[in-house]
Amino acid sequence: MAIIAANLQAVRERIARAANGANRDPASVQLLAVSKTFDASCIVAAWQAGQRAFGENFAREAVDKARELAHLDIEWHFIGPLQSNKTRLVAEHFAWVHGVEREKIARRLNDTRSPQLPPLNVLIQVNVSGESSKSGVAPGTEHALASAIREMPRLRLRGLMAIPEPTADVSMQRTRFALLRRLKEGLQEEDPAIDTLSMGMSDDLESAIAEGATIVRIGAAIFGTRAAVKHESKK
Ligand SMILES: *Cc1c(COP(=O)(O)O)cnc(C)c1O
Repeated sequence: MAIIAANLQAVRERIARAANGANRDPASVQLLAVSKTFDASCIVAAWQAGQRAFGENFAREAVDKARELAHLDIEWHFIGPLQSNKTRLVAEHFAWVHGVEREKIARRLNDTRSPQLPPLNVLIQVNVSGESSKSGVAPGTEHALASAIREMPRLRLRGLMAIPEPTADVSMQRTRFALLRRLKEGLQEEDPAIDTLSMGMSDDLESAIAEGATIVRIGAAIFGTRAAVKHESKK
């Protein structure tokens, strides 16, 4: 578990270097630790090393961990594909949802978010990789979804997220992240509350920060490589 603390420190240093290189305040980039498939003891190790925001992809797995760790001050972010039969679970247990791409899902989140909780922070997922990716709204169509979400009182639209197709080509990484940044700037013109760009993972966080990421979602560089990513049943 000492390795998790050391990895976290190394990731924080990568973030600080990338931010400084882009003339940005390192504090303007939030580190989201992606703990999917890793058990609660790994999250505790990261928490003890000062990490507070954790990202999970699978609703049931995440809720089990959140219940086990209810005594810790953790901010949970849902970053996986969201099926409509999981919206209530997610609305009840998470502070953020990164990958909203359909109005119907947004409406279900809004309808199931408890009035006792603060509004759920949401990001619209945009497909910045073209045909090679199926997830996210097409660039240019985020305005329509944003307008719909703004009418939902239990949701708070904060910005955009993307999961570009992995590539080792740094200029390609930059191009896609720059596209997301420009789309976010476009949304900001109609809504000054937009303040978040969730982009960048273990292998491309430097490019993402250079293009303005405010949240980077880091799994493998903190917790190690995932043996096999399991998938939730659709029942
Ligand atoms: C798994 C995952 C990550 C973390 O990826 P790493 O390459 O392990 O850093 C980030 N974002 C999303 C949406 C993920 O599913």
